[in-house]
Amino acid sequence: MEMGQGIKPLLPGSTIGILGGGQLGRMIILEGKKMGYRFVTLDPLDDCPGSQVADRHITAGYDDLEAARLLAESSDLITYEFENVDDAVVKVLEKDAFLPQGGELLRITRHRVREKRALEAAGVPVAPYRAVQSREELLSGSEALGFPCVLKTATGGYDGKGQWVFQSMAEAEAFTQLEPGREYVLEQWVPFDKEISVIAARSIMGEVAIFPPAWNIHRKQILHQSIVPAPVESGILRHAEDLARQVAEGLNVRGLIAVEMFLLHDGSLLVNELAPRPHNSGHYTLDACAVSQFEQQIRALSGLPLGSPKLLTLAVMVNILGEDVDRVRARMTDFPPQVKVHWYGKRESRPGRKMGHLTVLGESTEEALATVCRLELMEPTTRRGVETIR
Ligand code: AMP
Repeated sequence: MEMGQGIKPLLPGSTIGILGGGQLGRMIILEGKKMGYRFVTLDPLDDCPGSQVADRHITAGYDDLEAARLLAESSDLITYEFENVDDAVVKVLEKDAFLPQGGELLRITRHRVREKRALEAAGVPVAPYRAVQSREELLSGSEALGFPCVLKTATGGYDGKGQWVFQSMAEAEAFTQLEPGREYVLEQWVPFDKEISVIAARSIMGEVAIFPPAWNIHRKQILHQSIVPAPVESGILRHAEDLARQVAEGLNVRGLIAVEMFLLHDGSLLVNELAPRPHNSGHYTLDACAVSQFEQQIRALSGLPLGSPKLLTLAVMVNILGEDVDRVRARMTDFPPQVKVHWYGKRESRPGRKMGHLTVLGESTEEALATVCRLELMEPTTRRGVETIR
């Protein structure tokens, strides 16, 4: 599809199909309904965050081609809320429906080696790495990259799953879990100062808008909180935004691209990972920006002008995981007015499962972080944020 040529914007009243009914789908729908669109979701679960707010729901597996065809028939435009979309389903959707994001970006972003090569081709810096498929490649790669280094499965890993850190050649040699036929990437360990992320939107007309960079702090490999704007020098913020734009244009993105980066001690940035969809670190946009990442995705894909990504107020977003639910519920009747709570409607709570999030707004980052601490939502790891930015 040529950018912007002969494309008629998809106007309110049209139906948008979403592959996946998790919280990202739910928040796309909640925002899109305000804009006048109708929604149909496809998810294996009957009662999921997306189906609860969609106009129609198809209960089926993500690899069910008949269900994909039904979604195609029912929708004027199709999008997805996760990148591991089955290849055969992508083909059906590209052929039978309007899938403006296309299949190519999915093919790239669900495979770490392809992703790194595409980033390099776009002139975007990444950590030194080697593609690995055998023990020989693991050992020669370790030798070349030095220690520590981290081995990741090329596909299917998330939130730190499918990753192993080697401190020495002895540890790499002792590693016996390489699966034959599976692809991996070995990366040099990057002693980063901060992890930041930037969400860029690029519309099917070719317009680009960049949301302010967030500083992300993880707990047990899961995003814990995002602080926005990331408390770094303005030159670094601008550089991060420029890199996100370079990724959006270089990879011919349509829709959203979340760009996760490492900020090194010397102020340089390396891109670690991409997600071609709304991102957890962009949830703050719902309460703190002129337009949310979810509304922006719909504008980008439907061919409407992009909205302003301007930050209206400083924000700290905190994820509510299964283990936090009872504490948050017990305290939320006393939350101050600058705290906005979002629940995803999941019936079953499990440790590590994302059940909701809250956004704390503030006049300053210190004030917002102090409010987070006062809420005593979880262990005092949040205090780390306050200490580090001083
Ligand atoms: P990923 O799944 O690639 O986002 O990795 C999960 C987490 O592991 C990241 O958020 C980082 O905290 C850490 N990590 C991943 N790759 C590296 C690396 N090359 N150097 C240092 N830390 C890393």
